[in-house]
Amino acid sequence: SAALVEGPRKVLLAAPRGYCAGVDRAVIAVEKALEHYGPPVYVRKQIVHNLHVVSTLEEKGAIFVEETDEVPEGALVIFSAHGVSPAVVQSAEDRGLQTIDATCPLVTKVHREAVRFAKDDFDILLIGHEGHEEVEGTAGEAPEHIQIVNGPEDVDKVEVRDPNKVIWLSQTTLSVDETMLTVNLLKERFPTLQDPPSDDICYATSNRQAAIKKIAPQAELVIVVGSANSSNSVRLVEVALEYGAKASYRVDFANQVDESWFEGISTVGVTSGASVPEVLVREVLSLLADYGYADVEEVVTAEEDILFSLPKELRATLKEKG
Ligand code: SF4
Repeated sequence: SAALVEGPRKVLLAAPRGYCAGVDRAVIAVEKALEHYGPPVYVRKQIVHNLHVVSTLEEKGAIFVEETDEVPEGALVIFSAHGVSPAVVQSAEDRGLQTIDATCPLVTKVHREAVRFAKDDFDILLIGHEGHEEVEGTAGEAPEHIQIVNGPEDVDKVEVRDPNKVIWLSQTTLSVDETMLTVNLLKERFPTLQDPPSDDICYATSNRQAAIKKIAPQAELVIVVGSANSSNSVRLVEVALEYGAKASYRVDFANQVDESWFEGISTVGVTSGASVPEVLVREVLSLLADYGYADVEEVVTAEEDILFSLPKELRATLKEKG
């Protein structure tokens, strides 16, 4: 077994962490739809990128599908928090599906920007991870105007029609620092590159990164609770390492924490991604307490009080039913 340090052992718990307003809203949307329509309720893609959330909703009767063509004609399908392209909306309509759109309003905002700048005939450089659902949805708003820039390594490949009519937009869950690096490199190539009208990286992503930046220099080990396909969770591990943590690991569940990680560690930082229910963090904290890291100090770098109203289709239904 690992050599635990003799002296005081403590936990620095990041705040904010865990659920953001967009995830909270999307999960409640599925729960309310299950309550009011009864199962099965179909959901296109994982409603949010968290294994525990998805399996809990499955137990309650949600059926997760990859595409709308797997949904029986006329049935109810919910679009995930990451958003969908107009082609997906159209295919659902063609199949006569009833839809609830749980796209986070902050993702919808980026879609609107894409539509607007495409209409003005800009070349749009969408910084984001190719293949991520959110990027597919946003790019689908104006495929002929948008090119995806994965990161700094892609900057040299970018080709535009008119270097004076280019704007960058981004995925909502990127590393703030890496995105600025990409933008600065793009601006070396296109000095008149326009910035988005407002930040596309959302408040939840930047707040969680800011909190871990504060903790990482004082923690030898940082544990991030979150799923492998959760972009913002994976970014938290990278940020922790960049800001001084000697080691950082991502876990879905407490049982994935490995005893060997604690060898010689006095201070453990803990945070969780925007799609992670607090119960999973509590389980990690209780495991840490078993190893002698019972002293938990919460490090608060921001207060969040944002709440989004439920998707409009659901609000209308709930209102009818009273
Ligand atoms: Fe919305 Fe940001 Fe949460 Fe994504 S991480 S659902 S963009 S608030």
